[in-house]
Amino acid sequence: MADPVNDPALRSFIDVPVDSPFPIQNLPFGVFHRPGYESPHLGVAIGEFVLDLAEATLAGLLHVPALPLGFLAAQTDLGEFMALGLPIWRETRSRVSKILRSDNSILRDHPPLRMRCLPASADLAMLLPTRIPNYTDFYSSREHATNVGTMLRGPENALMPNWMHLPVAYHGRASSVVVSGTDFHRPRGQTKADDADAPTFGPSRSVDFELELGVLIGPGNALGTSISTSEAADHVFGMVLVNDWSARDIQKWEYQPLGPFLAKNFATSISPWVVTLDALEPFRIAGPTQDPEPLSYLRCTAAAAYDIHLEVTLQTSSMAKTVRISLSSAKYLYWNICQQIAHHTINGCNLQTGDLLASGTISGPTPDSLGSMLELAWKGTRPLTLLNGETRVFLNDGDRVTITGWCQGDGYRIGFGEVTGCVLPAFPV
Ligand code: MN
Repeated sequence: MADPVNDPALRSFIDVPVDSPFPIQNLPFGVFHRPGYESPHLGVAIGEFVLDLAEATLAGLLHVPALPLGFLAAQTDLGEFMALGLPIWRETRSRVSKILRSDNSILRDHPPLRMRCLPASADLAMLLPTRIPNYTDFYSSREHATNVGTMLRGPENALMPNWMHLPVAYHGRASSVVVSGTDFHRPRGQTKADDADAPTFGPSRSVDFELELGVLIGPGNALGTSISTSEAADHVFGMVLVNDWSARDIQKWEYQPLGPFLAKNFATSISPWVVTLDALEPFRIAGPTQDPEPLSYLRCTAAAAYDIHLEVTLQTSSMAKTVRISLSSAKYLYWNICQQIAHHTINGCNLQTGDLLASGTISGPTPDSLGSMLELAWKGTRPLTLLNGETRVFLNDGDRVTITGWCQGDGYRIGFGEVTGCVLPAFPV
């Protein structure tokens, strides 16, 4: 039976435009700071507003019987809630849906209560949804891995021999995961030109974005245990957009033999609203056919890909508005999140609540669906010409990159909002 919370016919008393990411069928969770309040509050996005879960709880509107009294009002991030598991998340989302429905008069017809519980999102500062203990970045797009491999090794050896057999990943840096809207300084580091004898030190000249999606882990697993592909979805609290900023020149010099380090750990941006797998359920699809068939621990019986439309826009400091530079989809990902989680834990590695598992750069099969500047400008050989005549091979100071994403339903969208960030000049040393 379809989840009634996902019924396309549901309407909220709050007017939600058809292209809004946050209709009543979505109800993503986030954390915000509200002017006049000391502590951050949990919230659920609805159109241009946010249901303040703390105020709704204190006003007696939101009671989840399975939660201790006042639980949702006492939290300053989503961590403890995420650890509680799917039945609690589902019950909470269902009760929030009832509060916001067009036929429920409690908030609809009481302006003072409505002002208290439903602040405009424009008045709030969004925060990271949870403390992120660990960040793992996969490499799950076949098109992206093929493009990068072709640039490095030529088309005959584009994919490494392991790639079709396991979801390749590296352990990233969790401390520099930042929420959308956080700008960062161009990193400095060692680079070495191909024709130079020795490396030099200075600001990176190849700052790039990476279009990715990430899952945030709900309940983890104990050290020494593993999570199967069929159990994996129950360990996922939800998904966010990810921009895994990268310095290609630093990466090129440092990455062998152990992989990315300073080229990646200066900033990784995520969108603030966590979209639950329940909300994404109508858009779950079969992924690409996997040939060769993966080893048994990586096989999935259920479809585990998601049809999520993704866009990247760029705005340089001299442009009045943004220009779209990539249009892609999560459906292109070869390895799905259940396989990523099963692989991550098959050796007994313990996932923890709040862990961020990102997909890796998502590229599609066409030149306009590439998920990084490295690919869009093909290692600097095909500069991108923007609408105002500027060209780019990588990102300049003052460039702002924004990623948006949504699932298109019949007359509504299950959206992620956006993740945005701007490259500031390298800080003085
Ligand atoms: Mn990445």
